[in-house]
Parts: sequence; structure tokens; C-alpha cells
Amino acid sequence: MAKSSASTSAEPVPKIPVQVRDIVIGAGAPVRAQSRTQARPDAVRAPVRQIRRLAGAGCELVRIAVPDQNAASALPAIRQRTNLPLVADIHFDHRLALAAIKAGFDKIRINPGNIGSKEKVGEIIRAAKDAGVAIRIGVNSGSIPKDILARYRHPSPPALLAAIARALEVFEKLDFHNIVLSAKTTSVRDLITVNEMLARTYPYPVHLGLTESGSPFVGGIRSAAALAPLLLQGIGDTIRISLTGDPVLEVIAGYELLAALGLRQSRPLVYSCPGCGRTRVNINRLARAVEKGLKGIKAPIKVAVMGCVVNGPGEAQEADFGIACGQGRGALFVKGKVLRSYPEDQLVAALLKEITRRL
Ligand code: SF4
Repeated sequence: MAKSSASTSAEPVPKIPVQVRDIVIGAGAPVRAQSRTQARPDAVRAPVRQIRRLAGAGCELVRIAVPDQNAASALPAIRQRTNLPLVADIHFDHRLALAAIKAGFDKIRINPGNIGSKEKVGEIIRAAKDAGVAIRIGVNSGSIPKDILARYRHPSPPALLAAIARALEVFEKLDFHNIVLSAKTTSVRDLITVNEMLARTYPYPVHLGLTESGSPFVGGIRSAAALAPLLLQGIGDTIRISLTGDPVLEVIAGYELLAALGLRQSRPLVYSCPGCGRTRVNINRLARAVEKGLKGIKAPIKVAVMGCVVNGPGEAQEADFGIACGQGRGALFVKGKVLRSYPEDQLVAALLKEITRRL
């Protein structure tokens, strides 16, 4: 029997590497950006279209919900059409997990508490082991086993941790360690606490996500509030910014968060001032146009869009590229030096041209 991997320390325990197709999770690898498809798998073309859009946005792992046998039967067709690491999200029926492994999926996400007997969970583990597939053990505050919930009275962080500990017993007994852990809740404070506990107890990589966090604006704020304190402590190996809306937004939000924390930046960061009574240009329009114009660019540059001469020139000079505006026109800066000034309607085009020319 394998020894339990649990140990509690004040610092996050170093994470073992978990290989998922061509990427490594944990062990110091970059924090991975994950999202999910919304279309039913058996529609095939629709989820494949979503996967391709997600890949274009830089998504590194795509989770696909597999609700029934019809969905499971479409998994080989989806697998054939993409090389992106695919995660099958399975609840209740262990045969769906077996089908996903057989179809060549790279990772299975299960909540062992709703799969049923230990034998059924064991079947998934054995199949995953044979195929070299990783498993994410995902517990959720809404589906903690009844006896654990009764013991802790409500789905608190210790209750979530107890659910993880119970699930892990089966995996470790079968000497399976290709594991990622996640404990999700809608409470920002509980999410931070439970993930600190998880990261300090187990050597398995951790997937972070605030569940059901809401629509893009609200959900983005809540998710950032929950994930940032963890990521800054080095906790979290994959993230998903759960948003009600286009999955591509989850990827964009994930990278924005990682870049804001200085953890990962692969595309331009735009800093724009909010505008005020001093602004003499349409700063909203300029900032939107710059963001839109930079969409296809994959370079870790900083671009400042500033509305006036008070903070504008200073901020713009700190960035790699920038514009600082005055009355109906603005100065274009590159690496701290003013190149020249342009009328407002030519400013964005001049900035984008300069960026493209120098990258
Ligand atoms: S940079 Fe200038 S225009 Fe922009 S908010 Fe600050 S003071 Fe106002």
C-alpha cells in the first residue's frame, strides 16, 4: 500500500510534475490557463469550433462536460480534430470516464463522491494508469459527502479538505499519483483558506477556480479577488476564471490576471487612464482602439494610453510604447522618448504602426 502523501507545513509543499499531453502541470511549470466548451460534445462541430477559438486565445487545457453516453460516443471524433490537451468532466457514471480515456482524452475530472462505489472509482484509476492519463479530483462545496457535511455542519474549508482526503485514500491505495486537486466554493474567503490548506498538505498540483463566479465583469472581479492572494503565495498550477459567457473571455481574463501579478505575460498589457475633467480627447475610444489593435500581437510589452499632460508623459515614458494626449492631439512615446505628435484621429494608427515595426 502506498503511504499517504499528506503532510502539513506552513509553506506550500513542492508539487510533483503531472504530464498532460504536451504540457507539464506543477513542479515549477508556468501556471496554465484553462477553459471549457459550452456546446454538447455530440454536436462535434460546435465544440471543435469552440476548442479552436480557445486555442487561438492561448488556452492550454480545455474541459469538456460529458453528461451521458451520447456525449461520450462523440469524444473520439473531437479528439481526432484537435491536439489541445482535453479534460473530460465526469459526474455520476464511471463508464463515461472510461469512454473518455479510451477516446484519448488527457485528463479526467471527477468528483469521487458522486461516482459511487470505491470499485467504480478504482476502475477509472486503473484505466487512467494504463493509459497515462491524469485525474483531477475536484470537490465542490455543493457536493460534499453527506456524512462529512454532517460532521462539519456546513461546507467549510475543513469539510472540503476532508472530502479530498477521503478521495485520495483510494487513489493512493492503488499507487496512482498523476493527480491534480481542486476544491471549489463560491466564497472568496473560503476558497483562499481551503486552497492554502490543500497546497500545504499535499504534493499534488492544484487547480484554482472560484465556482459560479458570475458574468464577465462581476465574475472577473470576484475571481481575481480569490485567486490573486493564492497565486502570489505560489499556490495554483492551473487556473480557470469561471465566467457566465463566452469561454474565450475566461482565457483572456486568466492571462490578464497572471500578467497583472507578474507571473506570466505573453501579450501586450495596456495601461489606460480613466479620463477626467482635464481630458481633451476621447480617451475611452482611444483606449478601446489600442486594445483592439493589439489583439493579434503576442509580445510582453507595456503600452500606456494617457489622457493629459499631468501624469501622461511620465506614465507613457515608463511603458515600452505610449501616447500622452493634449488638446485634440497626442505625443507618441517609444522606450521613454517622444517620437512626434499626431492629431487625435491619427494617433492610434501611428502607435500601432510603430509597435508592429519594432517587434
Ligand atoms: S492622466 Fe490626466 S486625463 Fe487621465 S485621469 Fe489622470 S489627470 Fe485625468
